[in-house]
Amino acid sequence: MLMNTYNRFPVTFTRGEGSHLFDDKGKRYLDFATGIGVNSVGHAHPKWVAAVTEQAGKLAHVSNLFSTKPGAELAEKLAALSGMKSVFFSNSGAEANEGIIKLARKYSRDKYGEGRATVVTLKQSFHGRTITTLAATGQEVFHKNFHPFTEGFVHVPANDITALKALAENGAGSTSGGVCAVLLEAVQGEGGVLPLQADYVKAVAEICAENDWLLLFDEVQTGIGRTGKWFAFQHFNGIKPDAVSFAKGIAGGLPLGGIIASEKCADVLKPGDHATTFGGNPVVCAAALATLEIIEEALPDVTAKGEKLMAALRGMDGLSNVRGAGLMIGATVDAAKHGSARELAGKLLAAGLVCLTAGGDSLRLMPPLTVSDDDIETGISIMKGCL
Ligand SMILES: *Cc1c(COP(=O)(O)O)cnc(C)c1O
Repeated sequence: MLMNTYNRFPVTFTRGEGSHLFDDKGKRYLDFATGIGVNSVGHAHPKWVAAVTEQAGKLAHVSNLFSTKPGAELAEKLAALSGMKSVFFSNSGAEANEGIIKLARKYSRDKYGEGRATVVTLKQSFHGRTITTLAATGQEVFHKNFHPFTEGFVHVPANDITALKALAENGAGSTSGGVCAVLLEAVQGEGGVLPLQADYVKAVAEICAENDWLLLFDEVQTGIGRTGKWFAFQHFNGIKPDAVSFAKGIAGGLPLGGIIASEKCADVLKPGDHATTFGGNPVVCAAALATLEIIEEALPDVTAKGEKLMAALRGMDGLSNVRGAGLMIGATVDAAKHGSARELAGKLLAAGLVCLTAGGDSLRLMPPLTVSDDDIETGISIMKGCL
């Protein structure tokens, strides 16, 4: 049996096609959850299927002791899309963030020696489930039961620069000493679809620049077109991260994550410093190259589609504080009217719409980036029927 770690909904999916899923009884669902933003180009896209099967028939894995064409090509593509320089591939978001934390600590140690190991993250953030990325995660609910954690993390409130300013003035106040980096989600996903304010991000970037702290964006959920730009940091004028992590939507359903480093820290990690066996094998990289091609076509319409969906949600009974960017959308559920967000997601699922929750009290919608206007309208009418 499967370990009972997921509070699963009572549905078994057997097949997907575009924006739709089908369960084992043949019932059709509209998918506005996309496996938590992973199926970014919908299900079984013919281009994606062709790329994966072709590569699987050629070469599936050789280890990172050798280079492969899909891996090299994908790294070049990601560098171009992000305006950054070097790429390390991992298998998941948490593993990508482990890598970015190692990169930040090594950057600082190379330059300043011991004593600058602390990574500042935000309250209500989510960075993964490993012991170290849980330490980075600024939500107590995920911490209980799993102490002790990796040292060297401090959580400050989002959209309030005073705590970060105080850290810069007074030192990090952690057992590992001074700060080496700040790690942010441009829109906090698991925390509740909570966007950061532009003036706050600008202030963080200024403090990072003044202190030579690395500015890191966790783009695991927001990246690869989800918010209407290739990377969510690109919404903030003039903001240039030192590195970003990515995962979820990159390979359209196969496990791939990684980090992209700017010129400044492109060569911090050297042979022997960091590695992974599976990360970025040719099959997942071929899937990612096909996914990026499909997203390239869909991307110009993502913002308008998201706005259409958000406008409809704003008119719905028992939903409030509709927010988000592109096709990453949250709405607070009025518990008195609909019960918990989870109960509402269950009701929508039964009505044929697959949705997510976030932050405990909110509904979260992440349709495929390729969703059609008709499918958005269908989703809206299913929601109207349930609300
Ligand atoms: C999902 C997520 C992670 C963790 O990714 P996994 O692939 O589940 O390890 C990390 N950061 C953010 C922002 C996420 O949304």
